[in-house]
Amino acid sequence: MLSVVVPCYNEEAGISECHRRLSAVLAQTGDPYELVYVEDGSRDRTHALLLALAEVDAHAVVVRLSRNFGHQAAVSAGLEVARGNAVVIIDADLQDPPEAVLDMVALWKAGSHVVYGVRIHRTGESRFKLWTAKAFYRLINRLSDIDIPLDTGDFRLMDRRVVEVLLHMPERHRLLRGMCAWAGFRQTPLPYRRAARYAGTTSYPLGRMINLALDGIVSFSTVPLRMLTFVGFGAAFLSLVGILYALGVRVLTQHWVPGWATLFVGVLFLSGLQMISLGIMGEYLGRVYTEVKQRPLVVIASVRRAGEPFPSPEHSWKGTAPPAENVARLLP
Ligand code: UDP
Ligand code: MG
Repeated sequence: MLSVVVPCYNEEAGISECHRRLSAVLAQTGDPYELVYVEDGSRDRTHALLLALAEVDAHAVVVRLSRNFGHQAAVSAGLEVARGNAVVIIDADLQDPPEAVLDMVALWKAGSHVVYGVRIHRTGESRFKLWTAKAFYRLINRLSDIDIPLDTGDFRLMDRRVVEVLLHMPERHRLLRGMCAWAGFRQTPLPYRRAARYAGTTSYPLGRMINLALDGIVSFSTVPLRMLTFVGFGAAFLSLVGILYALGVRVLTQHWVPGWATLFVGVLFLSGLQMISLGIMGEYLGRVYTEVKQRPLVVIASVRRAGEPFPSPEHSWKGTAPPAENVARLLP
C-alpha cells in the first residue's frame, strides 16, 4: 500500500482540487493507497472540507492536530498515522505536481528507498526566496556532516524502513529533509518543475524560514560552537598584541597615548563578540532544554479513517486529562 501525507493549513481554497488530482494520479498506479490529510489547526473550513471528502472517499484519512504545530510537525504526525509500505510527502497547495508521484513509485519499485524531488524550476516565488534557499543549503552542507541535496524540499517518497527511522528520531526541532538524508539507504533524486501555488497564500513568511534554517543548522552541526572557540582564540591573540603594545609604549617611550579611541573600540568589539558567542551557546542550550522536556512532538486530536470508529480511540483524547499513553505516541 502507498500512503500520501498531505499537511494542510488554511487550504480551504485548494484542498478539493488537490484531492481530485492526487486521487486521479494514485488510481493510475493500480495499487491500494491512502491519502493522509493532516489538518494543522487551520482557522478556515479546511477540516470540515476534509471530513466531507472522507465521507465520499474511503481512501481519505483525516488527522486533526489539536492546534497549529507547523509544517514539519504536521508531516511527522502524518508519518506516524500512515500505514503504507511507502509514504509520499506532498504539499496541499499543488506546488509539487502530483503526477511526479508516479515516477517516484516507479523508482521505488526499482529499488530506491528514498526518492526526493529536486526542483529544477520554480515559478511564482520571489527572487529573494530562491536566493536565500540556495544560500541556506550551501551553508548547511558546509557546516554539517550530512549532505542535504540542493533544491530539495519535503516532496519525496520514503520506504517504510526510512519512515521507521524517522519515527525513531524523537527530536523536537525537525528538518525532515535533513533527517531523511541522515537516515541513509538508497536515495535517488527526481527532477521536477515546481509550480506556483494553486490557491491561498504561503504560510512560510521570512520569520518561519529563518527558524527552519536555524533548526537545520543547529540540529545537524556543532560547527558554530567550535567557531566560537576559534574566535575566542583570535580575540585573545589580538588582546595579547594590544597588551604588548601598551606595555611597550608605557615603558619605552615618554609620551604614552591617552588611547581613548583604542580602548573604546576594543571594548565595543569584544563585548559584541561575547554577545554573539552567548547567543550561539543559547541556541544550543535552548534546544537541549526543549529536548529534555520530552514533550510529545504534536498532539493528534482525532483521526478519521474509513471503516474505523471516529474519533479513533487509538489517537484521540477522551475528556480533559489526556492519558499518558496517548501523549507518548510519538516517543520511542
Ligand atoms: N503547512 C502546515 N502547517 C503550517 C504551515 C504550512 O501544515 O503551519 C502546510 C501547508 O498547508 C502546505 C505546506 O505545509 O501544504 C507548505 O506550506 P506553504 O505552501 O505555505 O509553504 P511554501 O510552499 O511557501 O514554502
Ligand atoms: Mg507552498
